[in-house]
Amino acid sequence: MLPLLFTLISLPYAPEALEPVISKETIEYHYGKHLQGYVDNLNKLVAGTEYDGMALEEIVAKAQGGIFNNAGQILNHNLYFTQFKPFESQKLKAEGNEPTGRLADAIIRDFGSLEAFQTEFEQKGVTLFGSGWVWLAADKEGKLVITQEPNAGNPITKGLKPLLTMDVWEHAYYIDYRNRRAAHLHALWQIINWEEIERRYNE
Ligand code: MN
Repeated sequence: MLPLLFTLISLPYAPEALEPVISKETIEYHYGKHLQGYVDNLNKLVAGTEYDGMALEEIVAKAQGGIFNNAGQILNHNLYFTQFKPFESQKLKAEGNEPTGRLADAIIRDFGSLEAFQTEFEQKGVTLFGSGWVWLAADKEGKLVITQEPNAGNPITKGLKPLLTMDVWEHAYYIDYRNRRAAHLHALWQIINWEEIERRYNE
């Protein structure tokens, strides 16, 4: 039997479609080189181990060390890159791109307002020391929480469902924003595909 290989996900938009929030060059490096690298590494690391043939989520829940790091980075980037929609279809102001429905109701219930949620989310991204990810996640009852996860961390290791994430590794923003992590995080709201985030919440 041939080994089950992990593969690079397809992007649901053209590589330049997120400009000017995320440049084509950043996509070429972040998706084309960094994510591809994690995929290649994981395929080498799991070959012949108990993790061979396991789903990414299961590996992230069970593994440690290099296998956890590479599986986590693939899972995180898959959720990250598929949560965006083209900038062209958006209004210029982040305030014009808002969630609706059950997810919007939950954000207001658990954070007070969309603005309060976004402010806290950005703040947790800015204050995450070093490399990692800031997440919006839901518990079993649907309550929303923001978590900071270092390195390749994902809230599924805490029993939470990951919904939305911002990557604060420097490779995510240094080409376009240099050291201005806060400016990068604030700009990302303009391209969040809230329909996809709500689909994850309702799943
Ligand atoms: Mn990244």
